[in-house]
Amino acid sequence: MEVRPFLAGSDIGHTGAGEVRVGTDTAENSVVMTSAAVTFGRVARPDVVPRHLDPARKPSGWSRLGPRRIVGTCVHRMDGTLWGSETHFVSDDPHGRDALADFGIGGALDGALDGVIWEWLAEDDDRSPWASGPADGLEGDGVAFVRAHGREAINRDLRSIEVSGRFTTPVTPRQLDALCRLVAYVHDRAGVPWHQFPTHPRSGVVTQLQHWHFATKDCPGPVLRGLTATYQARARAIMRAAQMGQGQDSVSPLPPGLPAPTPSHGQSQSHGHDPMADGSPALAWLFGATTRTFLSGDTERWPGGEPRTYAYDPAGVISRAWLRRARREGHFPRIAGWRQVPGPTGTAAPAEVVAFANGWVLLRRSSLPPWVWADRPGETA
Ligand SMILES: [Zn+2]
Repeated sequence: MEVRPFLAGSDIGHTGAGEVRVGTDTAENSVVMTSAAVTFGRVARPDVVPRHLDPARKPSGWSRLGPRRIVGTCVHRMDGTLWGSETHFVSDDPHGRDALADFGIGGALDGALDGVIWEWLAEDDDRSPWASGPADGLEGDGVAFVRAHGREAINRDLRSIEVSGRFTTPVTPRQLDALCRLVAYVHDRAGVPWHQFPTHPRSGVVTQLQHWHFATKDCPGPVLRGLTATYQARARAIMRAAQMGQGQDSVSPLPPGLPAPTPSHGQSQSHGHDPMADGSPALAWLFGATTRTFLSGDTERWPGGEPRTYAYDPAGVISRAWLRRARREGHFPRIAGWRQVPGPTGTAAPAEVVAFANGWVLLRRSSLPPWVWADRPGETA
């Protein structure tokens, strides 16, 4: 690693290269460089949930391009949910098979995972995920980045961050906070002093980038692009506090009203911005429909002989159980079937089983409620 002292800018109050110390912070096992002004290695690592996809589980969607010398980050929008993205990465779908990113951050569509950071590739993994390249649409700072760092550096030397949600889904306060902490952490470890961020001091080019800088896609879309200055300013403030030894308490909170408020979960109707809100027409399509098969093996029919079909019903007990869990876990699986099975020994009434495409199973053991999630022992629906 190249080590250079940083001359403090006039806004720091004093100048001079000072003494440069290079050592190892044993707690973080990372290199600490100190000058009179800036100390690296002290930005707190945000809480990250390891969801590492090893090569056996994830044989494609990455290349070995040599050790990753991280210089910055590339931000994306998932156009989906946290669970959905991970499922996509490990699926047989050709698009999913060839897709992989370093991090995902939960948000409005992910229920309890709002603001949670998942890490799919460990910090010391030498696989470069295919999140941000190939460079088929270089624009703006992307041009300068490729000129200075090379084309392979897009996937190798930037850590890719997928922010959950569709392009138009509001970014939640927790999600924005997680993004700021993660960006601050990665750029600090990459040796970027707060007063030069988002420019990297060694190459002199911007290394906090977004997918559109490299691709013809609009990713991360208008909502997150509109928050670029906000998240970069806060990341810079976090870096400044840590690098100058002021402690995180000195970082002022996000201004009220930023980002735009998002609807809270479980409320009904009129959440025009949240495509998964209760009352959304998308829910019926996501839920799908099924027929019901009796214990005898016959399909349930209307008196006229037509098979009876069960579709999404905003007031129905099964639909409501599905929506609650879907919003909580960020999965909206299609209903796969409904059939009667023999009830517990000694009872006359059959049990009812409703299965969903991703393995969720609703079970009612007799003709009386309650329905329970059979794949989650003891969890009432
Ligand atoms: Zn993208």
